[in-house]
Amino acid sequence: MFLEEIETPVSSLRGVGEGAASRLANLDVRTVGDLLGHYPSRYDDRTQKIPLSRFRAGGRAHTVAQILDRKPIGFGAKGGVKLLVTDGSGVEAWLAAFGKRALYLGESRYPIGAIIGVTGSFSYKYGAIQSTDFEAPPVIARRGSLGDYRNAMPPDSAVLPVYPLTAGISQVQMRKFLLQALGYCKGIDGRVPQEILARRGLLSKQDAVLAAHRPATPAQADLARKSLIYEEFFVFQKDLAARIQARKRQLPPEGTAQAGGGSSRLSPTQEKLLGSLPFPLTDDQNRVIAEINADIDRGFEDRAAPAGDTSAGDSAGAAFTMARLLQGDVGSGKTLAAFFAAARVRDWGGQSALLAPTEILARQHADKAAELLAGTGLRLAFLTGNVKAQGRKQVLEALREGEVDLVAGTHALFSADVVYRNLSLAIIDEQHRFGVLQRNAIIRKGMESSSPPSPPHLLMMSATPIPRTLAITLFGDLDMSVIRTMPGGRLPIKTHLAEMGKETKVYDFVRRELEAGRQAYFVYPRIESRDDGGEPLKSAEDMYDYLRTGVFLGFACALIHSRVSEDDQRRILRDFHEGKIQVLAATSVIEVGIDNPRATCMVVEHAERFGLSALHQLRGRVGRGGLQSYCFFVYGDNLTDDGKERMRLLLGTTDGFEIAEADLRIRGPGDIRGIQQSGYLTLGIADPIADRELLEMAREDAGA
Ligand code: ADP
Ligand code: MG
Repeated sequence: MFLEEIETPVSSLRGVGEGAASRLANLDVRTVGDLLGHYPSRYDDRTQKIPLSRFRAGGRAHTVAQILDRKPIGFGAKGGVKLLVTDGSGVEAWLAAFGKRALYLGESRYPIGAIIGVTGSFSYKYGAIQSTDFEAPPVIARRGSLGDYRNAMPPDSAVLPVYPLTAGISQVQMRKFLLQALGYCKGIDGRVPQEILARRGLLSKQDAVLAAHRPATPAQADLARKSLIYEEFFVFQKDLAARIQARKRQLPPEGTAQAGGGSSRLSPTQEKLLGSLPFPLTDDQNRVIAEINADIDRGFEDRAAPAGDTSAGDSAGAAFTMARLLQGDVGSGKTLAAFFAAARVRDWGGQSALLAPTEILARQHADKAAELLAGTGLRLAFLTGNVKAQGRKQVLEALREGEVDLVAGTHALFSADVVYRNLSLAIIDEQHRFGVLQRNAIIRKGMESSSPPSPPHLLMMSATPIPRTLAITLFGDLDMSVIRTMPGGRLPIKTHLAEMGKETKVYDFVRRELEAGRQAYFVYPRIESRDDGGEPLKSAEDMYDYLRTGVFLGFACALIHSRVSEDDQRRILRDFHEGKIQVLAATSVIEVGIDNPRATCMVVEHAERFGLSALHQLRGRVGRGGLQSYCFFVYGDNLTDDGKERMRLLLGTTDGFEIAEADLRIRGPGDIRGIQQSGYLTLGIADPIADRELLEMAREDAGA
């Protein structure tokens, strides 16, 4: 049995009631299998004692101490209590608690003289060393002599997993849930053959899962993590190897391949499209369209070839199918190139589907298609999970009857009840957001709608430039087309850095732009503020209130993030697009695809929390019209050397490929905090950049 086949609902674990179950669902954890696959994002190594004497500002202690004294602080509900403790290292320190936490430190439980475990950060304040964020101290003995405990470790001296959390689930709860879940993973299978595990010195799946959640040492945690990441890559590379093999069978024998120059002659519908555009195509667009044309023609010619034609020798039987990755920076004109592909497919009598990862993007594509393809006679449709009842019925019928040439939508395009007349081309936007399963569903739809069954051509678009080295490892089965130049008439974006604390200058600048009728984005690393002991961060919710009621009082502001309903997101983006909203406070949900030519300011606060590629994508949201645009990266005092280099790079260039290569260079292994994934692929915990050595290993072993 595989991990994901453990379908016992989490609610059957002790302590997981309906409330906790629904909160866990926010983390995509519904079954015990999901829970076991919810790996720690890091570990807290408490295998060493850290005496109070080693404290520095904000430094941690993890020690055994005795209570020397207790004192009340203040009065009433706001009051608290503090305990004076020492651990025999020559330092005395206060544990101070307020409100409910103070009640917990009651005298009966914590009498003077008691021996307790102390874990927390300490700092020097008000003339004494003290801690307010210590953990509930476990009582080791109600009285005793500290000397007897000199060599004792405090309880909880383990490598503790630190899990990604959601509101309403605490770290302690999560650990308890996981400990129970571990009882279910006996005998689970992995996908890496035993022989390879042995050769690579990796753990079996069962051992890896156990050790990931309950490691004895930091080294064991590390090995568990490596083993799990390796497995993810291995599965991916196996799948890739199979696709490459299948593709090799389609290609004509060595030597007979036509020198790929593409086909620059346009088909009738493409001519119409070109004629109706208010602008000329860029050279790169022309080249890419020619490359795609050649693929499409070859596919249809193969299929049209009379049966029994064996001129292609042994490879006969499998018709050629396009599998092409179209890369180009945001706004470089990829979607338009894809419309040309759909136009050509239509002239061959086929249907095309344009798949986007979100409802919003799908809607934008549909609008863009309606605008650009109006004069071509191409028949358009739109289908997402939100298209219901009568509307849905009509679209499905039109697709089945072949009355639609291009349908834009989300994965709803491939749900079970959707039948195509002749699906010949699937265009996948932001391809890295889709997994193998979805890709297979698309291929199946194409097979079902053709006879003899043949897979649809695939055109995958990515605005995340993928460095060549990585592209081969991840997409070795795809042909590549690249658009490097942006359409003319665009002014380069001006990028500025600002230190947190001096951001009012930025706000003032933005206000002047707003007064001139322009619009602005403000992006934050978090939706809401939480009090989890981490560093305080500005959040989209807080800043939305702050901007709306203060700095930008009088301007229309809106808030958008992944927890805003899709309907509301759509309405907000439409209003933003129509200029009814001037300021959009957001998280990185707006990273891809949003296209508003009048938005001239992008302000990313806590820029140090975002990856290089994410920052690049965010910057790409402005500068999309003829207006001069500005991007401000506001960074906090947590800027690391890597962070500084990221900022320098972004100041120096806007070339996505250069940035991607640099990202690969800078992001050293071990950066598992991965605050903002750059998003090359949707793997689980594996990161193709940070873990690229494991990726290479898996590729070698999988024979890809
Ligand atoms: P991408 O999909 O690469 O992000 P789009 O195809 O959506 O880019 O193009 C971005 C914008 O630029 C669209 O509004 C599109 O109509 C416009 N555009 C595309 N090609 C050209 C061109 N050759 N000249 C001028 N504008 C163009
Ligand atoms: Mg796009």
